Amino acid sequence: MRKKNFSVKSTTRSERVFLKAEENSNKPLRDKCGIFGIYGKGVDVARISFFGLYSLQHRGQEGAGITVTDGKNLKSVKGLGLVSSVFNEEKINSLKGFAAIAHTRYSTTGGNKLCNVQPVVLNMKNEEFALAHNGNIINAMDLAKNLPPDIKLTSTSDTEIMGWVIKNSTGKNWEEKILSSFKKFQGAFSMITLTKNKLIAFRDTYGFRPLVIGKLNDAYIVCSETCALDTVGAKFIREIAPGEIIAIDEKGIQVVGKVKSTKKSFCLFEYVYLARPDSIFNKQLVHQVRQRSGEILAHESPVGADMVVAVPDSGTSAAIGYSKASGIPYGEVLIKNRYIGRTFIQPEQHIREMGVKLKFNPLREIVKGKRIIIVDDSIVRGTTMKKIVKMLKNCGAKKIHIRVCSPPVTDPCYFGIDTPDKKQLIASHMSVKEIKKFIDADSLAYLSLEGLKKASRVKSNRLCTSCFDGKYPMSVKGGFRKDVFETIS
Ligand code: AMP
Repeated sequence: MRKKNFSVKSTTRSERVFLKAEENSNKPLRDKCGIFGIYGKGVDVARISFFGLYSLQHRGQEGAGITVTDGKNLKSVKGLGLVSSVFNEEKINSLKGFAAIAHTRYSTTGGNKLCNVQPVVLNMKNEEFALAHNGNIINAMDLAKNLPPDIKLTSTSDTEIMGWVIKNSTGKNWEEKILSSFKKFQGAFSMITLTKNKLIAFRDTYGFRPLVIGKLNDAYIVCSETCALDTVGAKFIREIAPGEIIAIDEKGIQVVGKVKSTKKSFCLFEYVYLARPDSIFNKQLVHQVRQRSGEILAHESPVGADMVVAVPDSGTSAAIGYSKASGIPYGEVLIKNRYIGRTFIQPEQHIREMGVKLKFNPLREIVKGKRIIIVDDSIVRGTTMKKIVKMLKNCGAKKIHIRVCSPPVTDPCYFGIDTPDKKQLIASHMSVKEIKKFIDADSLAYLSLEGLKKASRVKSNRLCTSCFDGKYPMSVKGGFRKDVFETIS
């Protein structure tokens, strides 16, 4: 297999196997990624992908890319940063074709490199294959070790490994290769791939990460969230089922493979934080799930106060629900600067320290003398909430009650959310009482896991709740996490 156009120095497999978990101890939280694909003759697929990515920006802000096919070649534009800074009119116009896949990603300080920006394109003689992946597979290291020795990986991402595994699997076409490699991948993968003449999308048998299909006139779209369909004016058709492989080409859309799903495991944290409130999964509007979680929390942990406020925007839907169920008026006390990206805030510790002040400015006059219930979606490390409490106390708040619309996050995710190492998760080593003391609140209560599951209205045996209860739907022993892998290069 001849490789061409490598823009980065290749690393050997043995180098990759060298894990440096400790280097991750100060990593920012990462939620990732957003994927979008479109097939439509006569349609400006690059421009629609750009707008699709724009609406998935919340799923990753550190890199973006679009790959198009014109039937002869694949062409990509990729870059670090927000979708709006990677693309301009000229770049969008340079991407001509009838099908495209696109990706927006979040990465770590160490992994924030152009070589890791997706779509990943496998460069091969006479054929090309591009992949856009949301999720994380836990056996990437083992798969990398078993790749033919002439393959030189060009990135530190599990997605490229998956691409080469697919390429080297049996089958007379890409669909068959995907089907025959499917069971080799352990973990989470909602994936959209592109060949010269076809778009193929598939979702792991657990269905950890979302993947939906829509239609825009005669064009078909596959993407992470329904909000992207709404943005580009497409109509939602259905979700891709866990284990399903679909292909879109000139014949239309077809199911080309189905791998049996014995256990469904949709990520509950998608409802809590990751997804946009205007997206719908499993027939449930995310905003309403969050609102119900606030209502349930108000019943589980009532407290007297003058106002209910949200940590915007992640806590807004839940705070509305808490206010509705408690009868305590909803108000705003934290004004968010929506132009501060995480990219800017996070990499250096001293800048991260400033983070909360850059992001939120309190309305002093309103806070002064009030008993306030602050609602947020989650506490992970506890640093954000601690700073918010301090900020509001400095403004003269009389009482600060914290209500968190998810259970304590006690365990890291292996399936696509790079929550930090367990030791950095505050709830893994502190009780609720200790956390209350740490963040200096007058009271602190979390939503119960039962309450959150109830709010989701998804059958509880079809949800992944591992970050809240450590019950992983598959063994993660020795499991690979992309954040650890990315520090190697
Ligand atoms: P902290 O407790 O300081 O680590 O931060 C918790 C805040 O981060 C909450 O307000 C959440 O809205 C937000 N959050 C939760 N999960 C993630 C994630 N995976 N990526 C980025 N932010 C997150």
